[in-house]
Amino acid sequence: MKTTEIFKKHTVLSFEVFPPKRTGAVDTIYSTLEELQKLHPDFISVTYGAGGNENCKATLEIAAAVKNNYHIESVAHLPCIGLSKEDVLSQIRHFKEAGIENILALRGDIPKDGEMSGDFRYAGELIAFIRERCSFNVIAACYPEGHTESETIAADIRNLKTKVDAGADQLITQLFFDNDYFYRFRERCSLAGIHVPIQAGIMPVVNKKQIERMVSLCGVHLPRKFTAMMERYEHNPEAMRDAGIAYAADQIIDLTAQGVDGIHLYTMNNPYIAAKIYEAVHRVLAA
Ligand code: FAD
Repeated sequence: MKTTEIFKKHTVLSFEVFPPKRTGAVDTIYSTLEELQKLHPDFISVTYGAGGNENCKATLEIAAAVKNNYHIESVAHLPCIGLSKEDVLSQIRHFKEAGIENILALRGDIPKDGEMSGDFRYAGELIAFIRERCSFNVIAACYPEGHTESETIAADIRNLKTKVDAGADQLITQLFFDNDYFYRFRERCSLAGIHVPIQAGIMPVVNKKQIERMVSLCGVHLPRKFTAMMERYEHNPEAMRDAGIAYAADQIIDLTAQGVDGIHLYTMNNPYIAAKIYEAVHRVLAA
């Protein structure tokens, strides 16, 4: 099923997982999926390490298992940086053969040496390329606080509109910790003529190191309420985990009350946390 169809029925709840980095640890993902299956997500998306051939195999294998073994709709991420058109064609052929109908079409991060290679400069070019050749449901990434390379949020939204015009059917946001940024972004999208479903990407924070890494990568704003929580509980992992779960649940409840199209939970392959959040929000999402 194309995931865009699900938004017509209810507020969507989806999960994101990543292929385990440690060689030989791929099996652990299957026990994670087994646990996540019990939470009845509308779909599960599987990340893909840009430029990495091994990761792309793992993405395909896991996304295929989500769909065919766990009977959950799956989304395969596909960052195009460093890929030729032939690479992309081969990749999407594999996805199709595995029964995958949804692709999260991305550019990927520019490598540290700044060298861009491959046939695609922006995700919009990949989206148009896929659209012209096959009937996948295409999802794109978006950034409520602006993408780190964009000088202004207005420029970023203009580029986002290009991606939607190229054929993106649905959007998923980067993580954020201040819902007001999301509401302003949603309003700006609407004014720019972007009317596809926008899912809010929520990451439960369970340790300080994780969040410091994320902030340096994505440059998201940390509200006072959030930094106070991190400072208070940084040396008490269990309290930090519980506070992080409560913070994410609170964000989701507010977003749902304000009519969000869907929630995409960055699970960090941690089914315990996903289950706790599900417990806290599933009635709210279904109401
Ligand atoms: P683009 O849409 O191409 O945008 C990149 C920058 O270029 C932006 O600043 C944008 O404003 C600008 N831009 C876009 N189009 C144009 C244009 N036509 N002209 C001029 N400027 C333009 N990365 C991975 O490697 N693997 C993953 O699995 C992965 N999953 C992700 C999932 C989500 C939900 C999100 C939000 C991000 C994910 N990423 C992943 C990270 C993503 O690859 C990076 O954020 C990357 O830097 C940008 O990708 P993009 O698809 O948004 O790029």
